[in-house]
Amino acid sequence: MYGGAMTHVTARDDALATDEMTRLIGLPFNDSDDVIRAAVAEASVPSLLMSMVHMTGDVGLLDELPKPFMLIAMDLQGGMSEPDKQAVRDRAFDVICDYRDRGCPPPFVPDAAQLQTMLNVMSAGQVTAEYLDYVAADLRFSDADQRGPVLASTAEQRSEFPVVVIGCGEAGLLAGIKLKHAGVPFTIIEKQASVGGTWQANRYPGCRVDIANQYYAYSFEPTDHWSHYYSEQPEILKYLNDVMERYDIAPHVRFQTEVTRAQWNERTGSWQVTIRTDDGRDESLTARAVICAVGQFSNPVVPNIKGASDFEGPAFHTADWRDDVDLTDKRVAVIGAGASGFQLVPAIADQTAQVDVYQRTAQWMAPNINYHAAIPDPARWAIRHLPYYGRWLRFVSWWPIADALDEQVTIDPDWDSGGLSSSAANHGIREMFIAWMRVFCSDEELLKKVTPNYPPMGKRTLQDNGTWLTTLQRDDVELINDGIAEITADGVRTIDGVHRPADVLIWATGFDVNHQLGPINVRGLDGLALNDAWSDAPYAYLGVTVPKFPNFFCMFGPGTNAVNGASIIYNSECQMRYILGCIDMVLANNARYAVPRAEVCADYNRRNQERLKTMVYTHPAVASYYKNSSGTVPTLYGFRIFDYWNWTNRPNPDDYELQS
Ligand code: NAP
Repeated sequence: MYGGAMTHVTARDDALATDEMTRLIGLPFNDSDDVIRAAVAEASVPSLLMSMVHMTGDVGLLDELPKPFMLIAMDLQGGMSEPDKQAVRDRAFDVICDYRDRGCPPPFVPDAAQLQTMLNVMSAGQVTAEYLDYVAADLRFSDADQRGPVLASTAEQRSEFPVVVIGCGEAGLLAGIKLKHAGVPFTIIEKQASVGGTWQANRYPGCRVDIANQYYAYSFEPTDHWSHYYSEQPEILKYLNDVMERYDIAPHVRFQTEVTRAQWNERTGSWQVTIRTDDGRDESLTARAVICAVGQFSNPVVPNIKGASDFEGPAFHTADWRDDVDLTDKRVAVIGAGASGFQLVPAIADQTAQVDVYQRTAQWMAPNINYHAAIPDPARWAIRHLPYYGRWLRFVSWWPIADALDEQVTIDPDWDSGGLSSSAANHGIREMFIAWMRVFCSDEELLKKVTPNYPPMGKRTLQDNGTWLTTLQRDDVELINDGIAEITADGVRTIDGVHRPADVLIWATGFDVNHQLGPINVRGLDGLALNDAWSDAPYAYLGVTVPKFPNFFCMFGPGTNAVNGASIIYNSECQMRYILGCIDMVLANNARYAVPRAEVCADYNRRNQERLKTMVYTHPAVASYYKNSSGTVPTLYGFRIFDYWNWTNRPNPDDYELQS
């Protein structure tokens, strides 16, 4: 329980002694009034308001000043009017100068009641007492998230428990950081040449994150790294490289090496992991546990369209980008207008002679004025220096898109809109999204083509600042929504008989998320193959552990994709905390392994799928890559992120069979 100042001040004082905590909360400063004035002018006003409380220790300030109207992740300004924002900025300038002049003393940390008061103001009453621990941990008022479970095993036990991690994307890297911290030996096997996973593979032009980077970042790293609110792929890759270097994880990684098989050996109580090196040699590693951090987006799909192999020019998937293909003055056919195509087309249109975009289904886009916006330097100064400002900016980025969206994604069984929306609240979103499209397009024919005929948020919602529709209105870009009849040697023919020539063909056709292991052959108790057990309906308890697969842990596994509002990195941190708890549970009980009880896992997945049946993702009008052959959505997570944080705090031994 977040006990407020009595408990966390002690933790904070210890922690504050470290550079790390100071980096996280805000570095002391002695800058000029001009620097402060510029920062105040560019800052997120709700976050500034909270930082002022940390600088003064005066929660009463919040009664005197205007408040956010409603938190909106996309504008970071809480829907406040200009005069209201100005009133806060004026006061903030004085408060910050005074704080500087006092020598930047350790900032005030609220007790539970004071935090509730701050949150009442910040979230317009949405954050109730139930969420206090969860929010306090992410704001770093308590150390609960970072400490992880209190380990009952000995350091010696942990040092004799080798782990193999499959994949070095954000999750595999995180696993390495946390295992290293806990003194567990590990080897990460990564098929690509360096860290990054999906951010290494997807380097098509325009590729960028669609969750604000304040949230799409490790919670234990400061958030002043980013030059943009939603950074492009090279910056994310650099971030992951920087983090890998900072925690010195590279010596533990074998790059350009693939895991082909992992077989549980009941006699030795360990996994035999077969790896294939870049030069084709097979090797075998022995591990007490395997962490599968391949994620859900590592298997690109190229659809089986007639003539696909007849195309004579370069043809490649967005996740397999060909740096050697120069698109200058080329006619390019892009098949698919989902998240990848939507980012790619505007980024190449200036270079190419013509882009033809083949869209099977229109996608919903959410208005986001910050989507391509750089974070001005003064605003970065605020993140780096103003006490807890960066943490609150992160809160403004995540709270509105996480559990706060519940109503909009729930199906009202009595709501009838002919499949266009799933409830009154969802319909409101639909109208808001359409109004946003009309800001950028008055061509009714194009608007008809790009307006989805299914409820908003039923699939991953794209972030939009108008670039997509502006691009589609160029003379040298065409959106085609007639079905594709065939691919020819030099172009694409649609079912209306029109043939459009192309020099390059790009598949922006997504991933097979329901077979996330791809060709990796994982065999558990009694030789059971995980790909057979899962088929196209993968399951895992809390998305992490699988019955009959001892000491086998997934990250971004089945049932963990919170489609519309979560940071995969945040969820990975929850999973890794849980995995460490499981390892500790095995060791502290002198067990060989733990497997989740089949009935516990089945019940969890049943409840998750039941809940998802009430949500827009399973609405009959929504066709998405999440749905498997039987129409369920096994990769999705339907509950609150808050619940996930709670449930993954540490394993409940009753949920597991511990084998001695
Ligand atoms: P996607 O959203 O599934 O889009 C694939 C596109 O290909 C869709 O337009 C799909 O049409 C089309 N398509 C598939 N098979 C086709 C066929 N046989 N004929 C014609 N069109 C076909 O895949 P994605 O764009 O790669 O994105 C996948 C996920 O990756 C996203 O949902 C997101 O979670 C993640 N992602 C995130 C970002 C980001 O902004 N951070 C960027 C890229 C990807 P239908 O819609 O009709 O199926």
